[in-house]
Amino acid sequence: MNPEVDTAARDRTGPDETPQQADRAVTIFEKSVPGRRACQLPGSGVEEVPLADLIPSHLLREEPAGLPEVSEPEIIRHYNRLSRRNFDLDTGFYPLGSCTMKYNPRLNERVAALPGHARLHPATAPGDAQGALELMYLLQEALSEICGLPHVSLQPSAGSQGELAGLLLARACHADQGRNPGKVLIPDTSHGTNPASVSMAGYEVVKVATDGQGGVDMEDLRAKVDEDVACLMLTNPNTLGVFDRNITEIASLVHEAGGLLYYDGANLNAIMGQCRPGDMGFDIVHVNLHKSFSQPHGGGGPGAGPIAVSDRVEPYIPRPQVVKSEGEAGRPAYDLDFDRPKSIGRLRGFQGNFGVFVRSYAYILSLGADGLAEASRTAVLHANYLKSRLAQGRAGQYLPVAFERHCMHEFVLSGAPMKRELGIRTLDLAKRLLDFGFHPPTVYFPLLVDEALMVEPVETEAKEHLDDFAEAIESILEEAEQDPGIASEAPYTTPVRRLDEVGATRRPVIRQPD
Ligand SMILES: *Cc1c(COP(=O)(O)O)cnc(C)c1O
Repeated sequence: MNPEVDTAARDRTGPDETPQQADRAVTIFEKSVPGRRACQLPGSGVEEVPLADLIPSHLLREEPAGLPEVSEPEIIRHYNRLSRRNFDLDTGFYPLGSCTMKYNPRLNERVAALPGHARLHPATAPGDAQGALELMYLLQEALSEICGLPHVSLQPSAGSQGELAGLLLARACHADQGRNPGKVLIPDTSHGTNPASVSMAGYEVVKVATDGQGGVDMEDLRAKVDEDVACLMLTNPNTLGVFDRNITEIASLVHEAGGLLYYDGANLNAIMGQCRPGDMGFDIVHVNLHKSFSQPHGGGGPGAGPIAVSDRVEPYIPRPQVVKSEGEAGRPAYDLDFDRPKSIGRLRGFQGNFGVFVRSYAYILSLGADGLAEASRTAVLHANYLKSRLAQGRAGQYLPVAFERHCMHEFVLSGAPMKRELGIRTLDLAKRLLDFGFHPPTVYFPLLVDEALMVEPVETEAKEHLDDFAEAIESILEEAEQDPGIASEAPYTTPVRRLDEVGATRRPVIRQPD
């Protein structure tokens, strides 16, 4: 039985709210009542001093800050209500392709919340932060081992910042040899941040075509590799979810022409403990701790996109670098090394999102080498299982897989037949899935698949959830055979119904009208 289609829901803002509640002030600021307080403090025994005597006048506000004046229960209810209007990993299956929305172990949260970790001031002198520096050093070592490259910098705070760092490293490396190549090769199955980072670094993007197997078109690559190529950036597995079969040949072609090789390892969860970018000949790789290494993400952070590099690139890595030396009484000492004359410099303030390092290190230690390898095997198994399930029944008919190959941790379907034969689009299917309690997969990405639907089931879901998801898709397609109008107006059960996405970007309304 499909979730009920309640068209009256259109005018409601939330399933668990009466219209009166929903109509009342929505932002915490609108709930403000002058003089209302969340707590009362006893009077101070210390004599009052005017602020102006303590703080220079140019730093003092002229007007009060305009903070909301609300009671404690109102604060709790406000944020609790907001939290229930969202869909999150702790609510249900979240197969958002390319994002690795996997379960984030609570153990990691416990460890990150220990006061010695959570309350460490970022400006603490290295001598007083030995434990934190040791953890960062050990994380560098672990990532180095996982990537098969000897040096790691934890500075980049996102995958895309790792990419920018990698391109600046490539430039520094070439410049040191008196070279100044201007182009970067990017297969058209790469992640969208790759060409953006290339433009940002001031290089020219040269696209490389995809062959019939979903890999790099070798003929096109041969035609485009020349002395003016600074680097090739390869997303692997690529955005079609396939592992490039010609990876070693791609590496040697680019190296022979003097270019560097960059491996976009944001989705390392497909290959951890199976193979290593360094062994494939890559010079620089970034990994996303907020995907493969279980740092919770969504809503834009915090994250970390460390890079691992070869000996040839090491002199240029960001400054400072966490280093280990022999300390006193046989105990190692850790420090921040600023003395790196060829470094591309600093990429951020302080040393990074430390809580992310703690969670990822806890994840790596608790799984161990065998556990990481098994996590990857399971992620790949789940993707291939779900892909096979969706090749049956109506899904197989209306939503064929874009490239029929063994996939890695994710796969891409095309909703083109569904649109043609049933008159519903991939977007409609995605929205209707919300009524079934599933977060939709990624839609309309990668761009080279018509009506793309990119599914990443991850390793932490049980088989029943994969089956339920496949059955939900089957039900939606069956329903659409009878009445395509249902999906076209979905969702019906969510706090907010179909959004006018174009209107939202053109005319954003960020506060309620008075
Ligand atoms: C997520 C992702 C990125 C970008 O990472 P951010 O941390 O969001 O900047 C780059 N490449 C691939 C393949 C990704 O999946």
